[in-house]
Amino acid sequence: MSAVAAATEVDEAAFRGQLVRPGSPDYDLHRQIWNGSFDKHPALIARCAGVSDVIAAVKLGRDSGLPVAVRSGGHSFPGLSVADDALVIDLGSMKGVRVDPEQRTARVQAGVLLGELDKETQAFGLAVPSGIVTHTGVAGLTLGGGIGWLMRKYGLSIDQLVSVDLVTAGGEFVKASADENADLFWGVRGGGGNFGIVTEFEFRCVPLGTQVLAGPLFWPMEQSGEVLRFYRDWIVEAPDELMTIIVHRKAPPLAFVPQELHGKPVVMVICCWAGDLEEGEKFIRPLREFGSPVADLCTPKPYLAHQSMFDPSFVPHRWYYFKSCDVAEMSDEIIDITMERSLQIKSPLTAFPIWQMGGAVSRVDDDASPFNGRTAGFTYNIGACTETSDGFDEEREWVRSFWSALEPWHEGVYVNFLGDEGDDRIRQSYGPKKYDRLQTLKRKYDPGNFFRINQNISPN
Ligand SMILES: Cc1cc2nc3c(=O)[nH]c(=O)nc-3n(C[C@H](O)[C@H](O)[C@H](O)COP(=O)(O)OP(=O)(O)OC[C@H]3O[C@@H](n4cnc5c(N)ncnc54)[C@H](O)[C@@H]3O)c2cc1C
Repeated sequence: MSAVAAATEVDEAAFRGQLVRPGSPDYDLHRQIWNGSFDKHPALIARCAGVSDVIAAVKLGRDSGLPVAVRSGGHSFPGLSVADDALVIDLGSMKGVRVDPEQRTARVQAGVLLGELDKETQAFGLAVPSGIVTHTGVAGLTLGGGIGWLMRKYGLSIDQLVSVDLVTAGGEFVKASADENADLFWGVRGGGGNFGIVTEFEFRCVPLGTQVLAGPLFWPMEQSGEVLRFYRDWIVEAPDELMTIIVHRKAPPLAFVPQELHGKPVVMVICCWAGDLEEGEKFIRPLREFGSPVADLCTPKPYLAHQSMFDPSFVPHRWYYFKSCDVAEMSDEIIDITMERSLQIKSPLTAFPIWQMGGAVSRVDDDASPFNGRTAGFTYNIGACTETSDGFDEEREWVRSFWSALEPWHEGVYVNFLGDEGDDRIRQSYGPKKYDRLQTLKRKYDPGNFFRINQNISPN
């Protein structure tokens, strides 16, 4: 019997979730992922309802010989959560979250999205540091590290991770924490889905409260050089409470953006102050007073509102392309290149973030996890977006050329911002020492490279 035929022989009654095959009415719905530039046709999508389904799906992958892709939030930039003629093990329906407000912990199943987790933790004034778009999956984000608005104060998502439940390539259910399978626990804090399928995460929650001082200040993009020079000096003194992201783009026609700016090229410094609001106000004032911002939307607001601010800029199923690098500092040369290249943006949908790193992230022991960006100054995630394939090639070329122009200053790259860029870039993302350690772990937990549709650490 062929592999595909074997896959369709699954005992449906024994599977609690849903098995979706080509020809099923909702096949197209479930094979879609966030990045619309990928159009893959898997052989079977196993939409798991719980751990027993995940174990059954792994067994099915082994018995059928089908390549296996794993999907939680579906936000992989290079579309690694779905593949042609593969078995997709889809955890997107596993939505359980349990916050323990007394212990300040949260147990989170793999299908939970960032906005869903925030909603549960914020009911108690708590938070798990995560990312900046509500529809990203907790699973893939955490397995790569997890950078976001709270990281300078509270660290990465992995810095608050207590334990995981995981199904191995052999279909075995194991736990990993500092005390149990500690080697595996090290590996999952940045090593991606290479060692197994995480079915549940346990996090410490941080006492954020529900309000932050946050939002963007806008200047015309032609002033980006002056703004960034002021900015880089201003943030030298920034306490951990402040996290900033710089965005260059044509101002979107959104309700919160003044109408006269719509479509105009702007540079934004977006702030999030996670601490005493009056102190935040004092610290942010010099930025407000620099030059003449054309809009200032940085105000006290609910953390939940700030967390969804980027959602309209990263709409699912548009065409996206990213290329990323870390740099140590914002030198004059980097600032000049950034302004010059940003002024060449054509698409009204292209918006790329430059992340301020450091703070609490940099104070965690570098050997504590595979995440390799603890000493990064800034993370450039140069991204292009078009509504459809129209204009996509040109915008992608802009990304590549901008990224190449920064090459003399490249320091590393965050694994979750990698595209499909080959083994050398994956090695670069971890650095040689951590890569070797990950490879040793891969040989132990997945010697046959069963989990290979990912930012793959080859066992050989
Ligand atoms: C709009 C957008 C915003 C983003 N913002 C941020 C951000 O603020 N901070 C940040 O750090 N990153 C961010 N990212 C990057 C993001 O962290 C990665 O794309 C991440 O892999 C997404 O996880 P996912 O579960 O949604 O993706 P998926 O596509 O489902 O999975 C991504 C990868 O993880 C593997 N995987 C997924 N689930 C599991 C599991 N349960 N067990 C084992 N392996 C699994 C998959 O096989 C795949 O290789 C963003 C991405 C997008 C598209």
